[in-house]
Amino acid sequence: MARLGLRRRAREEPEQQRQRPARRAAPPSGELRRERKTLVREHEGRIRDLGGVVLEMYRQDSFRESLLYELCAEVTALEERLRELDMLLDARRPPAARCECGAPLFWGSRFCSTCGRPAGSAPAEG
Ligand SMILES: [Zn+2]
Repeated sequence: MARLGLRRRAREEPEQQRQRPARRAAPPSGELRRERKTLVREHEGRIRDLGGVVLEMYRQDSFRESLLYELCAEVTALEERLRELDMLLDARRPPAARCECGAPLFWGSRFCSTCGRPAGSAPAEG
């Protein structure tokens, strides 16, 4: 029986991952983190470019507002995506739950494996 269950799961998981990448399937956190890293770098670059563009416009005494709007919009779009990624990554991370005794609680466990206290429902926010 256990064997059957395992087999079925192994077959189903890849499909689920493809169909709904966001929530339920095993999270490709690595990918998200990589994307985040890339975006952070790009964001820095954009900000730098933006500064250069503004300075150049100042030098030429001609501010092209539309271009600035465009560039700023791109930067804010990047920031939005970064926030999104952060939320996704936070949601994936089992919220670093800890027992009152200080031991880390395993995701989904009902009792602390160190002191035996019930894991309770208190989300670890701090
Ligand atoms: Zn404990």
